[in-house]
Amino acid sequence: MIIILKSTATKDDLEKIIESVKEYGYKAEVVKGESKTIVGAVGNQKEKQQHMNLIGQLPGVESVVPIMQPHKLGSREFKNDDSSFAVGNTTVGGETITIIAGPCSVESEQQISEIAEAVKASGATILRGGAFKPRTSPYTFQGMGEEGLKLLRKAGDMVELPIVTEVLDVEDLDLVCEYTDMIQIGARNCQNYALLKAIGKSNKPVLLKRGMSTSINEFLLCAEYLLAEGNMNVALCERGIRTFETATRNTFDINAIPVLKEKTHLPIIADPAHGTGYWQYVSPIAYASIAAGADGLAVEVHNKPEIALSDGGQSLKPKKFQIMVDKSRIIAEAIGRKL
Ligand code: PEP
Ligand code: MN
Repeated sequence: MIIILKSTATKDDLEKIIESVKEYGYKAEVVKGESKTIVGAVGNQKEKQQHMNLIGQLPGVESVVPIMQPHKLGSREFKNDDSSFAVGNTTVGGETITIIAGPCSVESEQQISEIAEAVKASGATILRGGAFKPRTSPYTFQGMGEEGLKLLRKAGDMVELPIVTEVLDVEDLDLVCEYTDMIQIGARNCQNYALLKAIGKSNKPVLLKRGMSTSINEFLLCAEYLLAEGNMNVALCERGIRTFETATRNTFDINAIPVLKEKTHLPIIADPAHGTGYWQYVSPIAYASIAAGADGLAVEVHNKPEIALSDGGQSLKPKKFQIMVDKSRIIAEAIGRKL
């Protein structure tokens, strides 16, 4: 349910409302808008109607309305305005397009620092790099682990870019949180509810990637696991889904961008690298994504893609990345965004 407060409601009223909401067994999330404060109460209590009536009578409450969508806190019903949040020195969501760039995996100090310098110079706003890699085969490079986190942090600090990196397991969460500004939840873990709940309890911004066979409505409910635990700093990432098509690694679901933008206030990031699997297709799908309303791009950039330890074939060289950013800027400006 959504509890809309009167503009005259006091701090004390708000505290009492939250107290009652929790007493009835719901989780409370407060959103302070420009003119109004609202409280989202989520839970599956049998006596919901009765609770709504009781809450409606509390001082400072203007009205109480049910949220009809299955995804509650992520829905536009709960919050109509687009969300944005800080990640280090940048903001994800809002007018300016986020550019996440970097190698699939951190491979060495030289590799990550060279790439960090190149992507920063071209306009990236967040540096990416995997230290714990979810590889299809257990016999391929699994990432550098903590050493990779250290190198990514150092490279990010050197070029003054916040960093995003993937966590694979609840076990590694505290370690990854020590180093990173934003946590990536990969496609393979999109529906790992134990991991989602644990990350929901942390206060790190999250980049949640769509599972390769996760429908849009399921994806929104995956995000809801994070929101329901109190972490509202979540961006959703379309990265392609499995279809019958084999000419590309995945089928980038361009539809997902306007559909998600309609259904949720959370920022939407497009990953045309995993979405296509081939560097030649990355830029065109990046342009299409911005035109379709994405709030940002996540792309893989490598200085020597031919010897990359993972995903070299879908990685842009720095020069191509620069062209991609410059052309993306033209599209962003054409639709009233900034880059
Ligand atoms: C990645 O970002 O390198 C990655 C493994 O992505 P995904 O989880 O989308 O496959
Ligand atoms: Mn990758």
